[in-house]
Amino acid sequence: MKTYAYGFPRLGKNREFKRLVEGFWDGKLSEKELLKGIEELDRKREEAYSKVDGHPTGEMTLYDHMVDQAVLFGLYTAKSLQEYFELCRGKNALHMRKWFNTNYHYLVPDFTGKELSLSDLPYPKWKRRSSNAYIIGPFTFVKLSRGVKEEEFKERVKEVAALTARFVKEMEFKSLHVDEPALALELSKEEWEVLKEAYEELAGTGIPVNLFTYYGSIDNLKELFELPVKGIGIDLIHDGGENLKQLREIESDKRLFAGVVDGRNVWRNDLFKTAEKLKELKWKFNTVITNAAPLFHLPVSFSGATLPEELLKKVAFAQEKLEELNLLVEVLEGETERAEEWVEGLKIPFGRIERVRERVAALKEEDFIRKPAYPERERVQKEALKLPLFPTTTIGSFPQTEEVRRIRLLRKKGKLSQEDYDTFIRGEIAKAIQIQEELGLDVLVHGEFERSDMVEYFAEKMKGIATTGNGWVISYGTRCYRPPIIYGDVERDGQMTVKEIGFAQSLTQKPVKGMLTGPTTIIAWSFVREDLPLREVAYQIALALKDEIADYEKEGIKIVQIDEPAIREKAPLKKREWKEYFDWAVKAFRLCHSSVKPETQIHTHMCYSEFSEIIEYILLMDFDVISIEATRSKGDIVEAFEKVNFDRQIGLGVWDIHSPYVPSVEEMEEIVKRALRVIPKEKFWVNPDCGLKTRRWEEVIPALRNLIKLALKLREEK
Ligand code: GLN
Ligand code: ZN
Repeated sequence: MKTYAYGFPRLGKNREFKRLVEGFWDGKLSEKELLKGIEELDRKREEAYSKVDGHPTGEMTLYDHMVDQAVLFGLYTAKSLQEYFELCRGKNALHMRKWFNTNYHYLVPDFTGKELSLSDLPYPKWKRRSSNAYIIGPFTFVKLSRGVKEEEFKERVKEVAALTARFVKEMEFKSLHVDEPALALELSKEEWEVLKEAYEELAGTGIPVNLFTYYGSIDNLKELFELPVKGIGIDLIHDGGENLKQLREIESDKRLFAGVVDGRNVWRNDLFKTAEKLKELKWKFNTVITNAAPLFHLPVSFSGATLPEELLKKVAFAQEKLEELNLLVEVLEGETERAEEWVEGLKIPFGRIERVRERVAALKEEDFIRKPAYPERERVQKEALKLPLFPTTTIGSFPQTEEVRRIRLLRKKGKLSQEDYDTFIRGEIAKAIQIQEELGLDVLVHGEFERSDMVEYFAEKMKGIATTGNGWVISYGTRCYRPPIIYGDVERDGQMTVKEIGFAQSLTQKPVKGMLTGPTTIIAWSFVREDLPLREVAYQIALALKDEIADYEKEGIKIVQIDEPAIREKAPLKKREWKEYFDWAVKAFRLCHSSVKPETQIHTHMCYSEFSEIIEYILLMDFDVISIEATRSKGDIVEAFEKVNFDRQIGLGVWDIHSPYVPSVEEMEEIVKRALRVIPKEKFWVNPDCGLKTRRWEEVIPALRNLIKLALKLREEK
C-alpha cells in the first residue's frame, strides 16, 4: 500500500518561517533574502515528505492560502510584497476568521462588487509544471468568503472553478491536490449541484484531480464519489465512524486516500486497530493511506519537547505522523516489530485523581445557576462599582515587550530566582497600572506579563496538563502558540493568578479585573485526552477556575473576566451537533461563576469568529458584560444583537488590535454610532477588540488615548 501526506507545517522546526517573514517586516531581511529563506524552508518540508510516496507541492505561503488565492483570482491586487502584506495586516487588511473548527485564522476574501480575473502573486508560490499542485477548491474558497449572496453563490463558484481550470492549465500542472474541507459542513442539495458543476469544469482540463475532505464526516459520500475526479481523501479519524460506514456501501474504482493518521490530535495511532480498518478498505478501493487532516495543526516534531517520560511515549507530532504512515504499511505487510514498540505507550493510563472525579460526579443542576438573576445583579453592581456611562477598559494583556519575554525565558531556564522574577513582574504591573490611571481608563487590568500565553499559563498551573516547551503551531500569519496536552484529571495546583491580580488591585482605587481563560478555550487550544468525554474535562477545568474566583473575592476583586474566545471555533461543523456541544460548553462557563456574590461582575470576551449564529447560546452563559471583536467584521455582530432580546452590557471592540495601525477617534466612533442604534447607551462599554500583547506601547498609548477621548465625547453627547 502506498502512502501520501499533506499539510506539513510550514513553520519549521525552529520557527524559521516566523523569523523570516518578521525579519522582512522589520526591514532586517531583503525581499531576496526572505524568498531564499522560504525556498530553503520548503526544501526542508520536501525532505520530511521523503518518508512518504506522495505529497503536494505549492503548499508554501507567505501568510495564508486564502489570501494568496484571493490575489490569484483578482479579488485584490498585490503587485509587490509590501502590497501583499498590506492585505494581511495593514489598515485595510482582510477580515480574519477561524478556519473551520480550528485555531488557525485565515483571511476572508470579500467578493462584494468584484470582477474576477487571473492575476499574479508577488512571489513564486506555484512552480510551473509541478507534479502535484496544491490548491484550495473553488467550493471551499467561495463558501469561506464574504460578500457572496445566496443567489450569487452558484455563479461565483463556477467563476472561481473556471479561473482555477485556466490557471492550472496555463501552469501545466501534472495533477492537482484540491482541498475541500467545506464538504464536511451540512450542505444543501443545491450546493452539491454546484460542486458537481465546479468539478466538471476542472475535469475539462484533463489534469487529474485528487479532492481532499477533512475535519469530519461527509453527509453524502456517495455523491462525492460520483464527482469527475481521480481520487478522494476522506477523514477516517474525526468522523465518528460515519465515513467508514458509508464507504462500505460504495463501489468505485476511484483512488481512496484513506485518512487514518490523525492530523489534529497528538495521540499515537493504534496501528493494529487501524490496520484492521485498512484491510477492509484495501480490497474495495484503490487505497492510499494518508493523514486525516492537514498536519499543520501539530508541532513539527516531538524531539526536544519537554514532556513527562510517560507522555512522550503516547504522542506523535507532524514528523512522527509521517512515520506512522510507514509503520502502518509495515503492519499490513506483516512486519510488526517496530509497530509493537510504537504502540507500547498507549497502554499507559491517563492520570486519575479520585477527588476530582467525585467532585464532578456530585454536581447538581443548581451548581450551574447563578443567583440572583441579571436585572437584580445589574442594580447591585451599579451601586457597588459606580462606573461612568460608556466605561472604558482593555481586554487583558499589555505589550509583551522584548524585555518581558527575555526575563520570562531567564526564569524558565532557571537563570533568575523566583524572587527576582516576581519583583520584575510586580514592576511591570505597577507600570501598567500607572499608565492606565494616567490615561484615565475606568476598569483596569494587570497586563498579563507573567503569561506567555493565555492557555499555556494555566496549563502550567494545573495538574493533568503538560506543556511542550517547543511544540509551536501557527495560529495566524507568523503568530505561533504552543498547545498544551491534557493527559490527566485536571486540578488547580494552588492559586494560579491571585498573587498578580491582588497586587495590581492594591495599587489602585479603580477596579482591576481578575483575568481567567475559560474551560472551553483551554480545551480548544490544547491537545485533549480522548478517553474521557470533553464535557467531563471541561467541568474539571471549570471547578479549578471556580476555586480561583472564590480566592479573588477574598482578595477584594470586584470584576472577573473569563475569556472564551474559542467557544465558537470549537463548535462542531454540523449544526445538528451544536445543542449537545453548547450544553456542556455553556454549563462549564456557568459552573465557573455560579457561586459568586451578586455584586461581583462577570465579564467574558470573544473574538474573530462568526458569533451571529450562536447568539442564543452566548446568552445562556449568563455573564454580566461581554466584550466582543467587531472591527474586522465591521460591526456585523450588531445586527445579530438586534434580533435577540439582549439585556447584558456589551463592549464592542472599536480598535482592531491585529494591525499596528492606530485608529482615530472618528474611525472608532463610526463603529460605536452604528452599534448605538441597536444597543442602549447604558449598556455600552468602550474597548479594543482583543488583548494588546502583540502590540507595542508606542501604538497602545495613542490608540487608548483616542479610545478614551471617544468615551468622553460620547458621555458629553448623551
Ligand atoms: N485576556 C486575553 C488577552 O488580553 C484575551 C486574548 C484573546 O482573546 N485571544 O490577551
Ligand atoms: Zn480576543
